[in-house]
Amino acid sequence: MSRKQTAVIFGGGLSGLSLAIALRQRNVPVELHEAGNYPRHRVCGEFIAGADMPLFEKLGIKSAFDDALSLKTTVWHCGQRQVLDEQLPSPVVSISRYTLDERLSRIFTETGGVLHCGSRIQEDGVEREGSVWSTGRRLANQVSSKNGWIGLKCHMSGLSMKSDLEFYIGRRGYLGISPVSKDRYNVCALFRVNSGLPGTKQDLLYGYLEDNGIHNVRARMEEAKVDPESWCAVAGMNYRKVRNENTGMRIGDQFGLIAPLTGNGMSIAFVSAALAAPSIELWASNKCTWQEAIRTIHFTTEELLDLAISGDEADADFDGLPNGIEYVLLSNPRIPSGFFAPNNSLSVNEMGDAFVYDFSRNLDATITIEESVDLTAWTVIATSVNGSPFQTPLQGYTTTEVIEVGGNLVNVRLSSPVTFPTGKFQRIMVVR
Ligand SMILES: Cc1cc2nc3c(=O)[nH]c(=O)nc-3n(C[C@H](O)[C@H](O)[C@H](O)COP(=O)(O)OP(=O)(O)OC[C@H]3O[C@@H](n4cnc5c(N)ncnc54)[C@H](O)[C@@H]3O)c2cc1C
Repeated sequence: MSRKQTAVIFGGGLSGLSLAIALRQRNVPVELHEAGNYPRHRVCGEFIAGADMPLFEKLGIKSAFDDALSLKTTVWHCGQRQVLDEQLPSPVVSISRYTLDERLSRIFTETGGVLHCGSRIQEDGVEREGSVWSTGRRLANQVSSKNGWIGLKCHMSGLSMKSDLEFYIGRRGYLGISPVSKDRYNVCALFRVNSGLPGTKQDLLYGYLEDNGIHNVRARMEEAKVDPESWCAVAGMNYRKVRNENTGMRIGDQFGLIAPLTGNGMSIAFVSAALAAPSIELWASNKCTWQEAIRTIHFTTEELLDLAISGDEADADFDGLPNGIEYVLLSNPRIPSGFFAPNNSLSVNEMGDAFVYDFSRNLDATITIEESVDLTAWTVIATSVNGSPFQTPLQGYTTTEVIEVGGNLVNVRLSSPVTFPTGKFQRIMVVR
């Protein structure tokens, strides 16, 4: 029997570790690169709603939750006012990330996985077969202090609780408190950044509570004892959709973030790992190409059999772009894109401001760039067959330059300026 190919996972948070373990269960060789070390505290509310023991069992990580708490009740405050005191519709699992991530890393190495800690991988835009990105949330490129978010977290003991899960909703953020083990409580907050607030750690947290009008909780916190090692903070979170974020195999927060307070990021990490594992196993066993493996993670097994949902001509997210086109242009067939618009900009050349655009593409399709002045007659100006370099059939044609920037990215540069009297149209044709 031929040996399976090795999957390489970048990022050892919940999604990366649980995928790594699920693949080891399937006898797939796995190498995992994690920038940090274990154990360590992470900014997280540390309760898991939406994922349950059957899912953990399927992933091979159930033993990590043996002593996890089960939270059953919740109270909510808006400002100083209590607005809710209820049983949760179903219990949620609560466990410290310090403990959980460390346990998962141990299960991974015990099952024969190769773990490289302190190994930060630089993304270079090149899609490599067998590589999975699970490096967590993307940092916002241009988050100003006005619209950025800050996450703060610490563990306390000796805290008197009103309910299993307490929420305090403020003007621009919220605080959550829940037990994570016997007499250990996680205090975790997410606020819009207020760069005018002074201090670090505890002073900063209290400053944000005051700023958000939810300082009524402070007195109880002051009576409790903080674990100084558990303080952590994150900033620069971007909850807006990032363009072209779904190229390649990406799971967990790296695939996409959901809005604050929805609180299901950990469940999404586990579910995305469970969805990716069977496809990666097929690839590792040489039963499908890597591109096919990427594609199948968007659909369940039943959906893959139903071409009205998963076929090239179908449009699974009803955004007007057939799945086949979304596949070739590396967008997600389950997330409405509206329409395909390449990233465009202007570049200055000797003739004036000229139009430049780029797009990402899969390497197993024929892509043709065509040009027209009247939207009726089209001239082929460049073609790439299954990832081959773009060829231009027109000798001496110089008004458009097509550059392979690397891997999947194609950059198209028009030399005639945008002020040129006769307008010009370009279209991208894809065939699989
Ligand atoms: C304030 C706050 C509260 C939250 N509360 C909850 C909650 O109560 N419940 C819930 O379900 N979710 C919650 N979440 C979300 C949850 O923490 C995330 O959704 C979850 O951790 C995502 O898991 P992940 O594996 O995708 O990413 P992460 O857990 O972030 O892991 C990513 C890993 O990749 C590593 N890494 C990063 N870059 C590289 C690189 N270049 N090379 C190698 N390694 C790299 C990092 O070190 C990290 O270990 C909260 C988030 C915040 C910010």
